[in-house]
Amino acid sequence: MGARIVSFPAALSDVSRALQAAGQQLRAAGLLPAADERRPAVPVFVIGRANRCPDCHGEAFAVGRITAECCGCGLPLAIVASRRIM
Ligand SMILES: [Zn+2]
Repeated sequence: MGARIVSFPAALSDVSRALQAAGQQLRAAGLLPAADERRPAVPVFVIGRANRCPDCHGEAFAVGRITAECCGCGLPLAIVASRRIM
């Protein structure tokens, strides 16, 4: 069995610095969109899945035809039917 040498970064800041440099290189190469071009994730209610309110982390929803409202805080979420590709 050969000995395997694994080197870990000395500190977490080294890891984040390395990730930052990698992101800059990918952005410069045009493989990653710039930070201002990225869109935020939109929370939705997925039928048939476990859903949690992004605001109050409640699990109860009043499900309508178009939106599902959180029973805890009333936040409406758009209903999305997930389609599975087999
Ligand atoms: Zn809520």
